[in-house]
Amino acid sequence: MSTQTELVIYWIRRDFRLTDNPALSEAINFAKANNLQILPIFILDGGLLDDNNWNIGRGRRYALSQIVGNFSKHFASFSVLVGSPQEIFKKISKDRVIHVFTNEDIEPYSIQRDTEVKNIVEKNKGSFHSFKDQLTVSTQTRTGSGNIYSVFSPFRKAVLEEFMNVKSYEKVQIDHSFILSKPEGLELIKDLGFEHIDYARFDELQDKIFAAIDKPNTLYLDQGKHKLNIDELVEYQYSPTELDNEWYFSEEECLAEFEAFVDDKLLKYKEKRDSLELDTYNRGQTSKISLGLKWGLVSARTLKDLIVNKYGTKISSNQNIFHFISELIWREFYRYVLYHNPEVLNQEYQEKFQNSITWVEDQEALERFKKWCQGKTGYKVVDAAMNQLNKSGWMHNRSRMIVASILTKNLGVDWRWGQDYFRLMLVDLEEASNNGGWQWGASTGADQKPIRIFNPYLQQEKYDKKGAYLQQWLPQNYNWELKPIVEHTKARDEAKARYGLDKNSSERDY
Ligand SMILES: Cc1cc2nc3c(=O)[nH]c(=O)nc-3n(C[C@H](O)[C@H](O)[C@H](O)COP(=O)(O)OP(=O)(O)OC[C@H]3O[C@@H](n4cnc5c(N)ncnc54)[C@H](O)[C@@H]3O)c2cc1C
Repeated sequence: MSTQTELVIYWIRRDFRLTDNPALSEAINFAKANNLQILPIFILDGGLLDDNNWNIGRGRRYALSQIVGNFSKHFASFSVLVGSPQEIFKKISKDRVIHVFTNEDIEPYSIQRDTEVKNIVEKNKGSFHSFKDQLTVSTQTRTGSGNIYSVFSPFRKAVLEEFMNVKSYEKVQIDHSFILSKPEGLELIKDLGFEHIDYARFDELQDKIFAAIDKPNTLYLDQGKHKLNIDELVEYQYSPTELDNEWYFSEEECLAEFEAFVDDKLLKYKEKRDSLELDTYNRGQTSKISLGLKWGLVSARTLKDLIVNKYGTKISSNQNIFHFISELIWREFYRYVLYHNPEVLNQEYQEKFQNSITWVEDQEALERFKKWCQGKTGYKVVDAAMNQLNKSGWMHNRSRMIVASILTKNLGVDWRWGQDYFRLMLVDLEEASNNGGWQWGASTGADQKPIRIFNPYLQQEKYDKKGAYLQQWLPQNYNWELKPIVEHTKARDEAKARYGLDKNSSERDY
């Protein structure tokens, strides 16, 4: 073995898995070919953990600590560093040549960070290898006239074949002789919070990480103009035990969850996926795979492989399977949209709505927003949905659509505030899907549709006819007589005015 003056670094970000992990597979190949050792590292990025407006909520912090701890068990040694990645790589590469292997991240902050790290590493004679991962299809996909797609159906048509034929990497077998077991000569990174652990201590690592990152649950709105302490605002919130009962935090458990879905539920997916009532038992009728995809416990490619292995490649002949694959392609679509339009995180996608919607003025908006967060709007289906989010860190897709429409249309609150709250609370947060969902709810996003105003009573009647979802999520002391913050017909007229629609125009309620 060579000395540690030259090292391979496998930089884990959102790819906590052995199956279909391009960066890990290639890091091992490179280390073997060059007789080098690998140091697997995970960086708790200070910039994301500081008390700022990109704060991540307690549920996701807890999930992260469990996931890192579980994944670390695969390696003889595993390093968790806290701080700015740029600074950390500057220090590590100061006295040695490093070859960094990592899976590509396509969010704006990450693209910028990776460009900077690449420059640092290459300046010090090392190399930086980034592998396509989170977006399965090509970012270069274009319409026939060479434009970037802005509508989902033609995008799906263009990428479906590519998505179905994409190849996955084999499951990695870790050869421990290539994993750096004693970080000799790396004392300098101890100062940065270096952790060197063995199998017996991995639980301790989980506790340590959680303690290190369990910061105040603060929500920042309007780039910090308003600051809300969520622990004071929201009475019923999830606890680590509830999250443990509800969620999986390892690749093995995640795959088991998905395989059970493919066996038992996939063939009824299209007809049952929208029902809130059916979401109340037997872990619902959707896959609950969003947390696994968010952290890379599984890749979209592997999900596709598991489906094809069981049901074959002719997905268009089965509407349920086709619909599920289409949902995975919605995820691709929103990532593609964000990749090409990073400004959408703060700005309406459709130009005609940029700075043209007059939201309710701040103080009134804050009052309405707080009630929405607390599940006290008086619209029962909204209140149940917000309690589902607050108690479990997850919300059914139909509910996400309802609460987004009600916050923006009925309550007249800026969609960015809703996006911020979801960012803090969701355990499955994906910036691109969250933004796509919020802009869809506010009718300002890509895949332009007529402005839809959801009627919470119709939605409840259609998707939770017997009230099972309300029974499950409304707290015992819920005031069933609570009047809505804004009566729906009035809210509807106000929304029309806000969007520049004629009061007498004939849009129907959804
Ligand atoms: C306002 C709003 C915010 C949202 N925020 C997020 C988010 O932060 N993270 C997230 O993963 N999804 C988000 N979604 C999309 C969707 O609600 C979730 O992906 C879905 O509820 C996750 O549950 P599931 O895994 O059981 O979904 P399934 O129905 O089993 O779908 C399988 C997978 O397909 C993808 N998918 C399904 N529906 C959508 C969709 N509408 N848009 C994009 N991808 C989709 C997801 O990766 C999902 O895990 C949001 C939707 C809305 C309306």
